Amino acid sequence: MSEIIKDLHSKRMRDLIEYTSTSLMTPYPSPFGASIYNSEGELIAQAYDTVIKNGDPTCHGEVNAIRKAVKKIGNRSLKGCALYSTCEPCPMCMATSIWAEIDVVVFGATAKEDANLYWKQPLDVTAKELASRMLCKQKCIVIPQIERALSQKLFKSWKLAMDALKA
Ligand SMILES: [Zn+2]
Repeated sequence: MSEIIKDLHSKRMRDLIEYTSTSLMTPYPSPFGASIYNSEGELIAQAYDTVIKNGDPTCHGEVNAIRKAVKKIGNRSLKGCALYSTCEPCPMCMATSIWAEIDVVVFGATAKEDANLYWKQPLDVTAKELASRMLCKQKCIVIPQIERALSQKLFKSWKLAMDALKA
């Protein structure tokens, strides 16, 4: 990956972390956020995880962002788009990204080492593993651990916000 592309991914991830951190000021704090950029580099969707808020286990940040993006462009295919997530997509979100034909998935914190500290992970299938099982020629590229430390920090801030809500 070239330095220019790496810098672009870092910049978009930092923007996403900043956006996601605003959820900590809401009644439903969540450190899981996702954003989607089209091939022109335009931000077309941004969303938090709303599982608790909506009482719906499918409302992960990535799925919410994909739903917003397809609605916005009026097409179920997000070919040419890049999805960013503060955390490694779970198998549901990774599969949804594949169904949506997203080209690139970039994430910050890892599921196994980072998210698992706060939420016991029910599966041990990595996003990369899932992408590697794709049967179509055009594979979704998974780029791990971009701004991982900042994403880990977001988890810590979330924990503090939750503790404050309970106090
Ligand atoms: Zn997910």
